[in-house]
Amino acid sequence: MQFICETCGKEVTPEEGTLSWVDEGNSLRDFKITHKSDQDHNCDPRYVGYIHLWIVTGVTGFTKFTELLADYWVKGYTLDDIKGLKSVLNQIGICIWEKCKK
Ligand SMILES: [Zn+2]
Repeated sequence: MQFICETCGKEVTPEEGTLSWVDEGNSLRDFKITHKSDQDHNCDPRYVGYIHLWIVTGVTGFTKFTELLADYWVKGYTLDDIKGLKSVLNQIGICIWEKCKK
């Protein structure tokens, strides 16, 4: 399983990558897996949230991420990027599954 950086198109290892998103204006969007320096969100940095790829690809970190999403929803945030979220969840899920097989 390899992660591909959505910005530069090169391989990104769990150690150097992040899962990032935008939480501007009560809207959650722009979920992507990239190198940390390639997050490249088109908004004020204070609206960018991210989690290191090596953390979110562990079961504990993945659980934390789902808690974090639940915290957004209870505050009234709207998920405006279901496609992007599903895409990153799929990639992370495959990575976790492959780790569990070993
Ligand atoms: Zn990159």
